[in-house]
Amino acid sequence: MLSIRVGRARLSASATAAQRARELRAAGKDIIELAQGEPDFNTPDHVIEAAHRAMRAGQTHYTQVDGTPELKAAIIGKFRRENALEFKPENISAGAGGKQVLYNALMATLDPGDEVLIPAPSWVAYADITHFAEGTPVWLPTRPENRFKLRAEELEAAITPRTKWLMLNSPSNPSGAVYSADELRALAGVLDRHPQVWTIADDMYEHILFDGRSFATLAAVAPQLTGRVLTVNGCSKTYAMTGWRLGYAAGPAELVRAMGRLQAQSSINPSSVSQAAAVAALNGPQDIVRARCAEFQARRDAIVPRFAAIPGLAVEPPHGAFYLYVSCAGWLGKRTPEGKVLANDSDVCAWLLEGGVALPNGANYGLSPYFRVSIATGLPVLEEACRRIAAAGGKLA
Ligand code: PLP
Repeated sequence: MLSIRVGRARLSASATAAQRARELRAAGKDIIELAQGEPDFNTPDHVIEAAHRAMRAGQTHYTQVDGTPELKAAIIGKFRRENALEFKPENISAGAGGKQVLYNALMATLDPGDEVLIPAPSWVAYADITHFAEGTPVWLPTRPENRFKLRAEELEAAITPRTKWLMLNSPSNPSGAVYSADELRALAGVLDRHPQVWTIADDMYEHILFDGRSFATLAAVAPQLTGRVLTVNGCSKTYAMTGWRLGYAAGPAELVRAMGRLQAQSSINPSSVSQAAAVAALNGPQDIVRARCAEFQARRDAIVPRFAAIPGLAVEPPHGAFYLYVSCAGWLGKRTPEGKVLANDSDVCAWLLEGGVALPNGANYGLSPYFRVSIATGLPVLEEACRRIAAAGGKLA
């Protein structure tokens, strides 16, 4: 009864780990869940009030499929203000989260066998959606000594005549890698020589950037590529609006139109109320964004040394986003008290779950042996998780 297609749709690693945590909790186990990637803050009050006003004013109907004129104007204003990028309304597509926008883009462009280059580690959805769209995900392993960033020569070596997309995510989920303008220019130098390769710049974590780093995005540093770059962003992480489901992209009008046609046949417009809320978020005061970023940085600074001190684990402070990508290489080959040998990072995460912490393992992000820790949680919980992880490690022999 079910299609072959749906067999290719997987549940995400973080959702699976979070679900497992919920089940164990329901069964009475005390589990700390650091799997889900969402800020623990609330949506800013002025955004909630704007949504309320919009509902009262009757903005409860269908809208234009890929965004109201007001939302598109706010998105254009954001790109101009923050990224020095100029777009017209026909270049903008809004959907139910960055994920829907990415889904639309890959579904609108991939034919069977088309290759999508995905630096590893990356958010697993890129590979899953590619697979679903009958494309071929090509993982490009990066090195910890290069801070998990793809280098120009690695990109060059991976491009084939079937390469259609390069996925670039900075700051990165899960590694926290941040590409400088020079590093993006070096990649652009390669892309210049391969006109069939388009790039998705996933800027979802743009504003969660540490130590005073400045943000760079491919379309701005390599304007010659703007005809084949789709810049994706959204309200989820910047404004703690994951539940509102509002993401957007800017790119060539032909691609944007095709994405809209797909969306018209699935969900139609993103929620009218969420669009009004996004207008308030994008046009309103931005100081809260900076304050929250400072809070993520303080957590990072407090928690990274605790993880780094656990024997067998290794982690570098992320430069952005709100995850630690922790190497557990030093635990592989060790035995639990029951005699089970930890052979890979999936075994490590199963062992940590027994120890009371739910985390997704690195294989889900294309690079092992690691696990990902979301630090979008209050410090006391993170510290308790650290204690539990250290205790689980202490039982290995
Ligand atoms: N891009 C990256 C790298 C992410 O980690 C996420 C969410 O976890 C998204 C995009 C999509 O976010 P949303 O669909 O909530 O806008």
